[in-house]
Order: sequence, then structure tokens, then C-alpha cells
Amino acid sequence: MKMRAARMYGYKQPLRLEEVDVPSPGPEEVLVRVGGAGMCRTDFQLIDGYFDNGLSMDFPITPGHEVAGWVDGVGSAVPKSAGLAEGDQVVVFGSWGDGACRQCHEGNEQLCAHGVWAGFGRHGGYQEYLPVNYRYLIKIPGGGELSPDNLAPLTDAGLTPYRGLKKLRNAGHLGPGRTVAVSGIGGLGSYATQYAKLLGGGAEVVAFARSDEKLKIAKDNGADHVVNVRDKDTEDVRAELESATGRTELDAVIECAGSEDSIRLAFSLLAAEGAVASVGLIGNRVDIPLFPLVAREYTFYGSFWGNYNDLTEVLALARTGQLKHSVTRVRFDDVNETLEAIARGDVLGRAVIVYD
Ligand SMILES: [Zn+2]
Repeated sequence: MKMRAARMYGYKQPLRLEEVDVPSPGPEEVLVRVGGAGMCRTDFQLIDGYFDNGLSMDFPITPGHEVAGWVDGVGSAVPKSAGLAEGDQVVVFGSWGDGACRQCHEGNEQLCAHGVWAGFGRHGGYQEYLPVNYRYLIKIPGGGELSPDNLAPLTDAGLTPYRGLKKLRNAGHLGPGRTVAVSGIGGLGSYATQYAKLLGGGAEVVAFARSDEKLKIAKDNGADHVVNVRDKDTEDVRAELESATGRTELDAVIECAGSEDSIRLAFSLLAAEGAVASVGLIGNRVDIPLFPLVAREYTFYGSFWGNYNDLTEVLALARTGQLKHSVTRVRFDDVNETLEAIARGDVLGRAVIVYD
């Protein structure tokens, strides 16, 4: 049997849209028929060579680390206790550790030094069928909004800001009387806005973005205030922040944009004991003045993707109807054009490949 696959044959060249054989699952694997494959800006960066030094790529490779679909076949050694049967709707946890190191034992397989990631050297969801080890599947009953096109983005765009927000919450940076900013309202930021409300303990939520259309999504997702930061310097933004919140500072920032400018802006608006959690990745270095970092006791968290348990929490929020999805459905044939549009920042919400 054949399937469609959009594959990389090298860096800085368009994906080749091909017909290839459907893979057979290994004994411990489940064959997933992909129903939705989220398209992340990171996929564009992967193809552009951003991770060139850090990844071992054996071309051709299929990108796509946000995958949801249905069980199409179950390997002979998959235990019954996994509870997986043909036709089940599943999402794929895409970060696969060696299972041996401290990070893996803590459950943080996404931090494993010997781990591999779906879509970054291992085949991902830009193909119609994907074999996945049964341990990395989470079964989700279908119905309502719980379809693969809405579920796929939860495995990264939904998961990554959730982990970052949890770091801010667990360290006591959120709560009544606090102000938290969501910086960058793309795929991640549209979920981050919702988590800032859900986990913020009453903190006021301000969204920063460079387009009014994206800020409208933030408003729809619960932001109390929005600020268009395009072509504005720190003092312009501070003035708008003050007229919106009555304060000139932020207690916490979930930084989803990931540019050097946006991270500098976040630090320049921090209150004493404030914190920035960075989940976006566009720039290469950050330049932050040291004196306020020390003297005002700022904290900077890196937060990478999420672990399996974080993902189960995100899925629980989705199953109980607490998450809004902002999805743009994409035809397989339009994959390359859509990657270009994502790179320009021209896609609203998350682009998701659906196979019709
Ligand atoms: Zn490990």
C-alpha cells in the first residue's frame, strides 16, 4: 500500500511530495493513520538549517512533530494493558528518550541527551501513516471538537507554553494583583493566553503581538488587555501597559515569540522579582543588562516542549472543554507554500495538514 509523504532531502530546499510505501509497525509499535499534522515554525527552521549542528538527519526524512490520528495496526508485542485497538483516536507524544538517564527517569524524556524526536530525524506526521512505539500514544475518545486537527497542535503548540506557564506558577510568579504578559500570539501564544487565565490564579493577562488580527485571537482566548508592539520602543509599550493595567511593570512573561527584541522587551518591563519563561526560538542569542537581573532578582526560565505528564494535563483541559483551538486546515499539496507563509508570520493560529 502507498501513502503520501512530504520529505526532506537536504537543507534549504522544498519538501518533495512523494508516494512511498506505508511502513509496517515493529513488534512494539502501533501504526497511526495521521488525521492531523501540525505545522510549526520550527519545521521551517529545521528545513532552513537552524538545527543543522545539533541533529543527525538521515535523508530522506519526513518532518512533523505534532501528530494525532487513529490506530490502524497494532504490533505483535504491544501489551494488552496499553489498551490500544484499531480505530482508537490517539495523539503522539513526540519526544522519545533512551529510558536510562536521570531526565528520563524523572519523566523528562524531552531533555534526554540521547533522545530522538518525531519529525526531527525520525519520521513525523507529514506522511499519512506513522509507526510509533505504543508507550508514546495517548488515547482520546473522539467527539465534539476532539478531532485530530484540533488535537495535533496540543502536542507542541499546546504543550510547550503549558510547561512554561507551570514553571511561572509553581515558582509563585502568578496570582492576584500580578500582571502576566503573553509575548507573541502565534500557535503557542494562542494557547499560552488561555493557560495564563486558567493557571494564573487571578493575575491580569496582557497579550503582546505585532498584528491586530493575532491580538484579536488573544482577546477571544481570554486576554484582559492587548498591546500591538510593532514599531514601538519600550517606553511606548510601557505607556500602553500603564493605560491598560494601571501599572508600568510585569511580574511574569511567557515569551513565545523568541526573537532577541521580544526577549529584551520582556526583561525591560519586569518588576522586581519578575520572571521570564522563554519557549519561543527564533533568535540566536539574548543580550540582557546584568545589573537589574541581579539587583531586582529577575529569573529566566528556559522551558523546552513538555513531558508526557504535561501532555496528559493539556489533553485533560481539552477533554473538559476548557481550551479553544485556532486551527487553519492545510491540504497536503500546499505544504511548501504554507511553510513559507508560516516563516513570514502570515498564518493565523496553527496550520494543520489534514489528509482527505
Ligand atoms: Zn534519557
